[in-house]
Amino acid sequence: MIAVNNVYCVGRNYKKHAEELGNDVPTEPMIFLKPSHAICALDSNNPTIEMPKEVGEVHYETELVLRIGRAYEPGITVEKLVSSVALGIDFTLRDVQSKIKAKGHPWTAAKGFRNSAPLTSEIAFPGIEALNEATFSMRKNGEVVQSGNITNMIFDLQTLIDYIGEHYGLGEGDVIYTGTPEGVGPTVAGDVLELYWNEEKWGGCTVG
Ligand code: ZN
Repeated sequence: MIAVNNVYCVGRNYKKHAEELGNDVPTEPMIFLKPSHAICALDSNNPTIEMPKEVGEVHYETELVLRIGRAYEPGITVEKLVSSVALGIDFTLRDVQSKIKAKGHPWTAAKGFRNSAPLTSEIAFPGIEALNEATFSMRKNGEVVQSGNITNMIFDLQTLIDYIGEHYGLGEGDVIYTGTPEGVGPTVAGDVLELYWNEEKWGGCTVG
C-alpha cells in the first residue's frame, strides 16, 4: 500500500501527445485529480493489476511522478518542494473518456477508477539537470512503445508546481502525474507493461 494524499494529474503536457489525440495544445496547465484509492504498486515482479472490463479501450499513459515533501509557498523551487520521483501509469478508459468529453461531463469515470494510478518505487529528487538528461520509457510485451524526456514538456516542473500550489494547494504526501509523451495506446489482459528509467527497470505489471 502506497500512502499518498492528493493525486494531481496534468493533461496534454507534451505537444505530440496532444496532437496524437486530436486535442488543442493548452495555453495553461490542465489539471485533473484521481482519488487516492487509484494508487497501486508496480514492482519488479510485474504484479497483476486488474482493469475494468467491458468498458471499451484501456490506454496506458507513462508519466514522471513527483512526490511533494513539504507545504507549498510562493517562490519555493522544485528542488526544495519535491522530495522524490517515481514513474507511474495514468490508466485511461479511452472510449469512456471520448463519451464524457462529448457530453462535457467530469473525467472521473475515465481516469479515476480503482488501480488507475500504478506507481513504481521512488528515488530521491535527483535535480532538474539529471532529469533533463534522463529518458523514461514504457515497454509493452518487451517492445518500447513510449519514450519521454521532460525537456519536451509544454509546462515545466517549476511552472506545474507553482500553478497547482497557487490554485489548489500542495502539501506533504501529494503526488503529481506530470503528463504523458506521445505513444499512448491500448492494452489488454495478459499484456506485460514495464517502466524504465534510462536502461534500468523501475517496475512493471501484468494487465489483468
Ligand atoms: Zn495522463
